[in-house]
Amino acid sequence: MRAMTPTVVRIDAHSPQGRLLDASQPIIDVEDEGYTRGDGVFETMLCVDGAVRKLPRHLARLDHSAQLLQVWNPGEDSWRAALDLALQSAAEGTTTSLGREHTVKLLVSRGVPSEQPYGLVIVSPVPASTITQRTDGVTALLLPRGHDPAEDTSLPWLLSGAKTLSYAINMAVLRYVRTLGAQEAVFIGTDRRILEGATSSVIVAHRTESGVRISTPEPNHGILPGTTQGAIFAGARDEGWEVGFGPLYPADLMEADAVWLASSVRLLAPVTQLNGQALATDDQLTLTLTEFLRTR
Ligand code: PLP
Repeated sequence: MRAMTPTVVRIDAHSPQGRLLDASQPIIDVEDEGYTRGDGVFETMLCVDGAVRKLPRHLARLDHSAQLLQVWNPGEDSWRAALDLALQSAAEGTTTSLGREHTVKLLVSRGVPSEQPYGLVIVSPVPASTITQRTDGVTALLLPRGHDPAEDTSLPWLLSGAKTLSYAINMAVLRYVRTLGAQEAVFIGTDRRILEGATSSVIVAHRTESGVRISTPEPNHGILPGTTQGAIFAGARDEGWEVGFGPLYPADLMEADAVWLASSVRLLAPVTQLNGQALATDDQLTLTLTEFLRTR
């Protein structure tokens, strides 16, 4: 029995506004292709005090992912109605310095072969280990992706840039680095270009004479365009900071003033060590970038 049962709302042709399910009862059919083949798409979002952060960015990326998989996607009105229902019914959540936090997943599965696809909204507390990363940071290792994902971008069946339910590789690399005593993995390409974390975008900062320059690898080069990275860069532009889009190499991370792994629920995890080498961190910049996320 798990500590806290998530709240689950299902959207389908019978319930376009969403229907609350009893999550202690079976929900997934054993022939569901989201489950048996990872054939579906998802988003993971942060909700603070009842407000989902960056919802338009997540809905836009979910729509893009669904188009790449040619799978049905409930419209924005359906998602919003189902989200309201799920959040009203959700348990307490996790209390942090930001407020009352929940993790909110949107998921579309192709479903059972003879039936229709469906959507789920799943609301659960944020794990304490995720919150801890925001302050304690993470140690990371650079690992090759195996082939250059930029090569996939013209081959639509390779689903480059889609956030699909097939996350076994992303989970496997995390298990691998943990056997080596690190917490996170950063993928690099065959030319040693920095790509992305297992479940995060890489952001690098340099303090310059005129302010701050932040950079990230080219978002459309076979990696997932991060909504957190996008919102932070919008904030940086508003501040008049310089922003750059790769290419970044390991040496750029080693000599940066700060490096973070950024994703929607963890927000920003400062990378304190890369391949065993200590990296510079900057608490003030972490706070400023976190603040950019409050409203974007
Ligand atoms: N890259 C990958 C592979 C991810 O899985 C994620 C998030 O899960 C991200 C980047 C960061 O995306 P976002 O900031 O939208 O959460």
